[in-house]
Amino acid sequence: MIPRSERWAVVGGGMLGCTMALRLAEAGFDVTVFEAGDHPGGLAAPWELDTPGTNVTWDRHYHVMLRTDDALRNLLSELELDSKLHWGDTCTGYFSNGRLSPMSSVNDFIRLPGLSLISKARLAATIAVGSHTRNPERLEQMSVVDWCTRWSGRAVFEQFWLPLLRSKLGDAWQETSAAFLWATIQRLTRARRHGLGGEQFGYAPGGYASVLACLVDRLADRGARVITGTSVTRVAGTSKNRLVLSFKNSPDEIFDHVVVTTDAPTADAICAGLSDSERSVLRGIRYQGIVCASLLLDAPLSPYYLTYLLNDAPFTAIVEMTALVHPAELGEHHLVYLPRYISPDSAMFDESDDAIRARFVAGLQGIHRQFRESSILAFRVSRVRRVFPIPTRGYSQRVPAFDATVPGLHLVGSAQIVNGTLNVNETIGLAEKAAKHLLAAQKDVNNR
Ligand SMILES: Cc1cc2nc3c(=O)[nH]c(=O)nc-3n(C[C@H](O)[C@H](O)[C@H](O)COP(=O)(O)OP(=O)(O)OC[C@H]3O[C@@H](n4cnc5c(N)ncnc54)[C@H](O)[C@@H]3O)c2cc1C
Repeated sequence: MIPRSERWAVVGGGMLGCTMALRLAEAGFDVTVFEAGDHPGGLAAPWELDTPGTNVTWDRHYHVMLRTDDALRNLLSELELDSKLHWGDTCTGYFSNGRLSPMSSVNDFIRLPGLSLISKARLAATIAVGSHTRNPERLEQMSVVDWCTRWSGRAVFEQFWLPLLRSKLGDAWQETSAAFLWATIQRLTRARRHGLGGEQFGYAPGGYASVLACLVDRLADRGARVITGTSVTRVAGTSKNRLVLSFKNSPDEIFDHVVVTTDAPTADAICAGLSDSERSVLRGIRYQGIVCASLLLDAPLSPYYLTYLLNDAPFTAIVEMTALVHPAELGEHHLVYLPRYISPDSAMFDESDDAIRARFVAGLQGIHRQFRESSILAFRVSRVRRVFPIPTRGYSQRVPAFDATVPGLHLVGSAQIVNGTLNVNETIGLAEKAAKHLLAAQKDVNNR
């Protein structure tokens, strides 16, 4: 057993930091998680949507689980939550040329407007190739444009794939590798039980707030502390191979090991003593950010959990959470998310909530003509400048290592997710892998 006196700090209390902290605490270390936000959870954290008479709490960003999310479901089983998950079939919509159509079954797909039968056959073939390709390494070297054009043809690429790629990646679609689309197709086809059948998604009653509450309780049971509202401003090595953590509003603390789970630019900014090559890796990672509005409505918009938008709209897609989540979870109201993926330096981050609301409402009325602004009971905007790294060609060759050259300092972050999409299952898989690596390295040191 490792002595409790060995102190570990985890910077960032998202799903990654909390899972890492759990594994380290279970191994017998004295662990403290420092989280800048007021709640643990990061991108998966809950927030409140206040309406007169009701107080609704749900995830700040839309989240669903898949039956095949093994790493996530193993953790939920440990927390005795997996058996409580709710699963449901969902439908998908498609808005193109001013028309909203279903896209949930093979029949829907055949009837889709705006694409010829040949285009649909090429599109289906591209999805089939993506879902049956097992080895993404080759795709990582190829641009998404080349791969899509090869299987779908130029016309289908421009008509179908390009609007979707642009809406998620902005101008960075030009540098993105085919592995990005491969990973997206793999995840989506896993959600479908067969062919183009309906998608089964799951959620925890109470949303991620209940997952996080159980995780934080389990951390406390294992002796770990989670300190929120505490931003780490500097991590620096001492002459005795320990690490000093500095904070915005509290005195420095000393640890034997520090695991930084933030995005790469934050890790670069707060970690002192990194080598030039480590900094160049961290600085070379480009991110995509998000502005995501939550709208609590008094009536449903559509039967679709997800509506793809092929026409220009102020948002990337429409996600109607209550097409999956029972409205009873949300005070019998209906929750819709309008995400807009943008680059971290986009001027949209500085727009007021009112300006965003006006544009989003007008955009929604262009798609759902029956929608009235008076239907909105609550409207809140989340802004995150760095959500996921752009998977550029050859990305796997340029990810940071778990162990920094500063003794005791470890970097574990979503930038290390290779050939995958950003989702909690990948995040927990990464945490498990990194924890195994750090614990094995500690065992070696203690055996010496
Ligand atoms: C719009 C959207 C939709 C999504 N949909 C899904 C979905 O349907 N299904 C799914 O599985 N996943 C989904 N995800 C992805 C999921 O949210 C992420 O995979 C996961 O939350 C990432 O966790 P993380 O801990 O790596 O990062 P984060 O959640 O970003 O956590 C990092 C934490 O570090 C903290 N931090 C940063 N700097 C400091 C500092 N200096 N000091 C202290 N703390 C600091 C931050 O406050 C943050 O809490 C979605 C994400 C978004 C944005």
